[in-house]
This record gives sequence, structure tokens and C-alpha cells, in this order.
Amino acid sequence: MLQGEGGAGVGRAKMNLHHLTIHQAHQLLKDRELSSVELTKAILERIAQVDEKVHALVTVTEGLARHQAEQADERIRAGDLTPLTGVPALIKDNMCTKGIRTTCSSRMLDNFVPPYDAMVVERLKEAGLVMVGKANMDEFAMGSSTENSALFPTHNPWGLDRVPGGSSGGSAVGVAVGEAIYALGSDTGGSIRQPAGFCSIVGFKPTYGRVSRYGLVAFASSLDQIGSMTKDVTDSALVMNIIAGYDPRDSTSANYPVPDYTKSLVPDLRGLRLGVPREYFVEGMEKGVEVVMRTAIGKLEELGAEVDWEVSLPHTKYALAAYYIIAPSEAMANLARYDGVKYGFSYQEAESMWDAMEKTREFGFGPEVKRRIILGAYALSAGYYDAYYLKASKVRTLIRREFEDAFERFDALITPTSPTVPFKIGEKVDDPLQMYLSDVCTLPINIAGIPGLSVPAGFSDGLPVGMQIIGKPFSEETLLRIGFAYEQATGWQKRRPEI
Ligand code: GLN
Repeated sequence: MLQGEGGAGVGRAKMNLHHLTIHQAHQLLKDRELSSVELTKAILERIAQVDEKVHALVTVTEGLARHQAEQADERIRAGDLTPLTGVPALIKDNMCTKGIRTTCSSRMLDNFVPPYDAMVVERLKEAGLVMVGKANMDEFAMGSSTENSALFPTHNPWGLDRVPGGSSGGSAVGVAVGEAIYALGSDTGGSIRQPAGFCSIVGFKPTYGRVSRYGLVAFASSLDQIGSMTKDVTDSALVMNIIAGYDPRDSTSANYPVPDYTKSLVPDLRGLRLGVPREYFVEGMEKGVEVVMRTAIGKLEELGAEVDWEVSLPHTKYALAAYYIIAPSEAMANLARYDGVKYGFSYQEAESMWDAMEKTREFGFGPEVKRRIILGAYALSAGYYDAYYLKASKVRTLIRREFEDAFERFDALITPTSPTVPFKIGEKVDDPLQMYLSDVCTLPINIAGIPGLSVPAGFSDGLPVGMQIIGKPFSEETLLRIGFAYEQATGWQKRRPEI
């Protein structure tokens, strides 16, 4: 074939390989129009070309990637392939990777090389993983802008002076600019969805327990969840098919059947009832975000969904306060293990054991991590436990019940992912409360343990806006269906930042 779209070879030659989705890359790999070695080379070149501008990667695993690509090509030649075989990926740097430094973007774990793989990494390896690197993040996943990385901030490719969101900012940027075809992130209060929204990619936080946390460095164990960061909804379904499922090594892992998520990708919303909770159109929300959201929800109506614009979830306003008691309390307990003895950084010039521990923690942790540890220690201390932690746990129950009631009437709820577009680097870094407000729309979902999907919904003054689709526990398929129908109808997911 000499010309035109019909020839995959011709099409491929004209294409930027780094902008491929998983399903496009898979098709080319399967048809032998492309090898994993070639694709991996293109991705590594892209990293060399753009990472000095966006700083998304903590570690580039070039040698490993080339080796895994060769292995993937062998599997492909033998006809033994999954949709992820040979497709280059980035892993957030709080998921353990055997033999590869896993820093959590903290000085504390600067030199930590895990002796084992996280369950998700194991699963991806079985599926034919090509890992090109580990992605930058807010230290220990605490933050909303990736500015809390102890290493360096990551820049948003839609405006290099802006934050990419956080804490999975490196993963989001990596996917948006083509430093990987897809990535894994983790989400405790919004860390997959908010950066996905800020970078105009798809971010999926599944139901708590749907994906094993084994080998994920713990932040707040009752809220943490791993999920996918991809260029479109089809890719999210493909990643979920591999990473979801029961794992006896995570005591909160759900022993619940895993469907084929690609079956839910149907481009029509007839028969679905959607609710728009007014509390998510909060004070302080930018006008541009609201305009994009109203248009997006109108589109869902056009696609056949029945939309109730006047839903109320009155306990939403307590979610932020409850989160900032629960998450720091759990973080305080989880981070007690960094004492300079068992893991990572250890202060060597100390005069006594206590001095060594104190100095290790003083120099090993950054300011936001220390703030959380202090908050958590205070909230859990004798005399304050009932007033803070116990109260927050009760609020958590109320929020969960309120969602349960709503899901009696609706198949899903629709909200903005964030109240603002990406803000300027430095703008909120000295004002923790302003920073915490970035997650007002996403953290109630972690508190309730339910799934949330963020899809690109459009742009306000050239900056991305994300739409969040929320459902009841284990309704991942419904969320994917809504996201898929929306992106098929609008095409926002196809826009790539120019860089
Ligand atoms: N930004 C929120 C926090 O700082 C959520 C982070 C996350 O989901 N890991 O806690």
C-alpha cells in the first residue's frame, strides 16, 4: 500500500510512537508492524528529549527496559501475549520494584532498593511489563502538586510554570507527554484523579480493596488504593484487567470476582441515572471549571443518561476535616518504622541511640511529612483521641451512608475532579490549608472506599479540567462505560500538550 490511512505500516511511519495508546500499540505489536524494542527505543528517546523540561522521572531504567522489551518480543513471536505485553510503562516511586531504587521521593528512602516486587508489579511482569522508570511524587504521597517531592518539582506540560497535581504528578505528566504509554499511581485522597485531571489524562481509583496494596509503601492504609493512569478509558480497562483481583498478602484485598472490564466499553448511556451533587460545586470553584462541567454533564444527557442536577450530600462539607484527622493518624503510625535502623537513610554521627533516631527523622523527612506526623500524633494522643480520631471515624460512617443512600437512586454521581485548573508552581506551597483544598472533590471518595474515575472534560483558558465519575463499591464497569461514552462523543482525550 502506497499511501493513506489504510496501511498500518504507512500510518505507523507518520505516527509519533510515544503518543500511542495501549490498545493502538498492542494492535501494531500483534500485527508485527512494530516491535517492543522499537517502541521502547522511541519512548526512551522521548524521555531524553522532554524530561529536562518536565522532570517527571526519579529513575530511568533504560537497561531493564531494553531487556524486558527483548523478552516481550520473544513472547510476541511465540504468540503468547496480553494487551500489555511489550508496552512501556512508568511506576510511581512508592511501589516496590525488586532491585530498583524505590524512593517515595523522600531523602529517607533515597538509597532503598526493595528485595521484592509489589503485587501490581508482579502482575504486570507476568503480563509482559516493560518498565522505563519510576515516577516522581509528593514525598510519601503527601501533597497535591508534586512540589513536596524532596528531589525536585514536576512541571505541567500544559503550562510549564504550573503544577501537574499530585501526589502522582510524575506518573500523570509521563503519560501526558509520552514518556510512557501508561502508568500506575496511588490514591489516598485524590492522588491519581487530581493529577490526571490537571494533565488531561484518564485516572482511575478503583474500590478500596480491588487492587492489592502489597508492596505499596503505606501512607494511610484504610484509604490507599492503586490504580491506572492512561491516555483513554479503553486503556484503563486493559490495565484493570491485569492488576485487579484478590491477593492474600493484603488483608484488606477483596475476594470478589474480576470481570472483563473491556466489556463495559459501550458508547451509549441509555437507562443510566446520574446525579450531580451540588456540594461539589463548591465556593472557591473557578468559573471556567463550572462552565466546562455544565457542558460536560449536558453531553452525558445527550448520550441518553437521565440527569438529576439537584442532588444534595450535606455531609460532604465535613469530609476534608475528617480526612485530615484520619490520614495523618494512620501516616503517623505507618511512618514510625523509619528509625534509621531497618530502612533507608540513617544518621551516622549521633551520640546516642535516641539522638540517632531523632536526627534520622529530622533530616530524612521533609516539612509536609513532619506536619502530618505531628498532626497524627496529636489526634491520637490520650485525652484527644475521642475528640478527634473517634469523631472523624463517626463522620466517615455518615459520609459512607450518605453515598449508599444516593446509590439507591443513581448509578453514578458526576462532579468536577478539582475546583480549579492547575495552579502556578509556588502559589500554594506555603499555605497548607489552600493546598489541602485542592482535594475537596476527591477525598470523600476515599473516605467512603468507593471507586472514582477522572476523564478529560475540556479546557478553561487552555488548561485542563477533569470530570469525576463516582459509583458504589465494585461498580467500576459502570464508571468505565460512562467515561468511554463521554470520550467517544467528545474526543478530549486525544489532545496532547505541545512540548
Ligand atoms: N493531597 C492529599 C494529601 O495530601 C491526597 C494525597 C494522596 O491521595 N496520596 O493527603
